Amino acid sequence: MENKGKVLMHKYEFGRFLGQGNFAKVYHARNIETGQSVAVKVIDKEKVLKVGMIDQTKREISGMSLVKHANILELYEVMASKSKIYFVMEYAKGGELFNKLSKGKLREDVARKYFQQLISAVDFCHSRGVYHRDLKLENLLLDENGILKVSDFGLSALAECKHQDGLLHTACGTPAYVAPEVINRKGYDGAKADIWSCGVILYVMLAGYLPFHDTSLIAIYRKISKADYKFPNWFSPEVTKLLSRILTPNRKSRISITKIMTNPWFRKGFNSKAVDIDAVCSCETNYNAFEAKKDTAKLTNLNAFDIISLSSGFDLSGLFVESEEKKEVQFTSLHTFSAITSKLEVNAQNLKLKVKEGGVMKMEGSSRGGRGTLAIDAEIFEFTPSFHLVELRKSSGDTLEF
Ligand code: ATP
Ligand code: MG
Repeated sequence: MENKGKVLMHKYEFGRFLGQGNFAKVYHARNIETGQSVAVKVIDKEKVLKVGMIDQTKREISGMSLVKHANILELYEVMASKSKIYFVMEYAKGGELFNKLSKGKLREDVARKYFQQLISAVDFCHSRGVYHRDLKLENLLLDENGILKVSDFGLSALAECKHQDGLLHTACGTPAYVAPEVINRKGYDGAKADIWSCGVILYVMLAGYLPFHDTSLIAIYRKISKADYKFPNWFSPEVTKLLSRILTPNRKSRISITKIMTNPWFRKGFNSKAVDIDAVCSCETNYNAFEAKKDTAKLTNLNAFDIISLSSGFDLSGLFVESEEKKEVQFTSLHTFSAITSKLEVNAQNLKLKVKEGGVMKMEGSSRGGRGTLAIDAEIFEFTPSFHLVELRKSSGDTLEF
């Protein structure tokens, strides 16, 4: 509740608290300019840094910007302050799929419909090299029309933290959706691990309870490793067959997404066209249909993720908080490469710095300062022709002068 009424970056006004996960608190918020409802996931940077991040998972967050699909909760924007990271995402008005199950198990055709939407989303991401790593019922939300929206896709960096840290994992509650090879830390394949979790989700929807449950964590792990579970008598032979192919402990013999999608039980009433069209439309194809202003917004959003992947150790504070002691400064610009270079040159001239050009623009002072001659490297990273990240780094001299 502490955030209610607070305005984030002059843009989103916080509303009611929606829920809490392991790393985050989620709030409803409203875009002040457009009135659009959004959900803001607030993550404590400390918590994330404490468990460490690896480069590959950071890159996956940047991959997230490419993932747009009718069944994937859209991530609009990433913002950060000194201590928090804010993920601004599509608001799922229908809440959690979990709530539907609180009234008992789902009918087979209803479960199939959700499973088809889940597999479409997962297939779409996998084909773009993005893995979820934390698929579970709690990450399946519904929009106002009851359409399934998978949340936290591309945030596998956070899932990775959980997998790296046994204790944290325990604190997460149930490991019930995690594939055996993840538990045993045997050769890992993001795609096959996600498929296993989809199998557990399908089981839960049809049964109304988890396939692997027990009184202790060790006992649950043991059951998962051996795929020790039973089918309730109301499961049809078709779905039983499919599930046994998914919940196979050896990931090499586990069914692939492509095979799931050709399975007769899965295909029943499956309208892949509808999904494909949505998926395509939300990407570049109707790019021109957006008005110019929206274009800029889209490009800016896209870069928020790229910026994260560039920022060492997830530390975005340099972008928003000025520090006297910093040896480097980053900022983004909507100007062209040549406009940025000439502006840097003009500024360097005004500061009486000599400019040496090469791959990296170098600026050097003429007189020796307290700690030697000040030298600054400027690097410009192009995301799109009209969106750049500029990084100024002190290579020698006094930090205060810098
Ligand atoms: P984890 O920490 O493992 O991700 P989680 O998925 O339960 O666990 P969060 O993703 O932080 O936790 O979300 C917390 C809760 O907030 C969700 O369970 C859901 O009820 C709600 N929520 C999250 N995102 C949205 C959204 N986009 N729209 C509506 N409600 C949401
Ligand atoms: Mg979640």
